[in-house]
This record gives sequence, C-alpha cells and structure tokens, in this order.
Amino acid sequence: MDEIIISGLKVFAWHGVYEEEQEKGQNFIVNARLRVDTYAAGNSDSLEDSVDYGKVCLFINDFMRINRYNLIETVANNLARKILVRFPITQSIEIEVMKPEAPIPLPLENVSVKVERSWHRTYIAAGSNMGDSEELIHNAMENLDADENCRVLRSSKMYRSKAYGGVEQDDFYNNVFCMDTLYSPIELLSRLQAEEKEAGRERLIKWGPRTLDLDIIYYDDLVLERDHLRIPHVDMCSRDFVLLPLSEIAPYKRHPILGMTTLELLGRIKESYVLTMKEEDDE
Ligand code: ADP
Ligand code: MG
Repeated sequence: MDEIIISGLKVFAWHGVYEEEQEKGQNFIVNARLRVDTYAAGNSDSLEDSVDYGKVCLFINDFMRINRYNLIETVANNLARKILVRFPITQSIEIEVMKPEAPIPLPLENVSVKVERSWHRTYIAAGSNMGDSEELIHNAMENLDADENCRVLRSSKMYRSKAYGGVEQDDFYNNVFCMDTLYSPIELLSRLQAEEKEAGRERLIKWGPRTLDLDIIYYDDLVLERDHLRIPHVDMCSRDFVLLPLSEIAPYKRHPILGMTTLELLGRIKESYVLTMKEEDDE
C-alpha cells in the first residue's frame, strides 16, 4: 500500500512522569507513516481523495498540546488511533514519538516509542432469544457503529433458528455483521461483553437463553488461542445460524485454519438450526 510519510515534526508539549516535565514542557519529535490508497488521488489530483498531510501535522500538534500524558506510549497509541478515526481513508499508521530532551542523568541522544495501529476487519455473530431480540441486536450494532473505534459496514438479514446445545428454550434471532475496528482482539471482546451487559445479559446456564450474545467469528485472518478468546470462533463450523448469514456478506472469505470458504463450510453442515429468514416470516 502507498504511504504518506511525515518526519521530524517538532511539537512543544507537556507529557512526562516528572513534575518538571509537566510544568516546563519540552520538545517532542514525531514521525508518522500513513498507509493510504493513493490511486484515486493519483488519478484525480484532488486532495479530497487523499490525506491532507498539512492537516495531519496540525492535528498531531493540537492533539499533543491539548492532552497531557505521563507516557509517550500513551501519546503514540492514542494519537495513532485518533488519526485513523479523523482521516478515515488511512488504513494503517505507524507513529513514532521521540523525546530527545528526556530528563535522564546520562548523556542520551534520543528515546522514542513506535506503535503501529490499523483498522481490522471483523465478522461478528449476534444472537438473542429473550426480550425484543431484533431490537436488541439492532441497538447493539448502532451502539458499536457510534463508537469511534468501530465502523459497522454491512449486515446479513435476520434469521430465526432453534436453540443450539440441548437446553430447552425459545427460538433465536441471529445475524452476522461485518465491522472494522481499531480494538485489539481482547479489547474487542470486552467491548462486545459491555454491549451484552447493556442489553441485560446474565450468564446463567451455558448455551441457555440470553438477551444478547455477540461472538467474534473472524478478526482479519488472525488465529488466536487464549483461555478466554479463540479466533476464529471454535463452534462456527457446526452452526448454520452463523454460516448462513455469513455467506450472505462474505461467501468467499476463507477460514484461516481450514482454508475453506464460507460456502464450502456451509456445504459440510450436518445438523441445521435455521428455521427461516426473518423477511419470510413477515410475508
Ligand atoms: P457462547 O457464545 O458459546 O454461546 P458465551 O457467550 O457465554 O457462550 O461465551 C462464553 C465465553 O466464550 C466468553 O466468556 C468468552 O470469553 C469466550 N470466547 C472464546 N472465544 C470467543 C469468541 N471468538 N467470541 C466471543 N467469545 C469468545
Ligand atoms: Mg458468546
């Protein structure tokens, strides 16, 4: 991908752990590398199709002077995310914040922190069989879209399905939506859990009735194995109420471990849970 590079931007600001740094301030130097698709701008020669690096420089300057942090890690992390939000055609960014005047009682040329942040494409499966399920799912999608760290891009239709896992309970409403996010996988899990909580979810019985369930199906092509988070979602391949809606919005996306497309995975389903698509209900 093409890059817009800003180097050696000098900003006088007040970040630091020591009182002296917070009172007197010091010079910081910022380097930024923005990954942008410049084909459109290259053809149109119009600034609207690109990122105005003048504005990015002013934004960095304002951000660093308005906010005050103890650590340059925080400066770099927050700045990187804010630039991705404020200049939305930027896909990813590398930011280095240097502190050449850091108060260290030794001769020192420079100290810096460099972070890389980017938009990640995720697929989220939603399910509900308590309360006004459709509304709860739509509200969650709206709340996530209103979070500046998330952009909901498209959603499947709503499906009705019978419960999975053997607990006798009402039928479910399910959908899958595609969302770009700046959150790390762990941050995203807690953001989704906050949304489940907001919808009044209580974790009572495994696979029991719930007001809202939000599962991470894919996060880019990441394969992650943690105690509380496994990506791709481990049960997705046996759930047609995930694969069917997913096949509407990402039929050819490949499972990063199995190498199969959504349609191929759907073809292997043995037990079907989907009853109807919501639109068919309404007719
Ligand atoms: P389920 O979604 O399987 O019906 P829960 O929503 O109660 O059940 O999830 C149980 C746990 O699954 C959560 O506390 C979460 O930590 C864990 N989990 C593991 N992988 C994922 C994932 N990809 N998406 C969401 N939760 C996950
Ligand atoms: Mg879940």
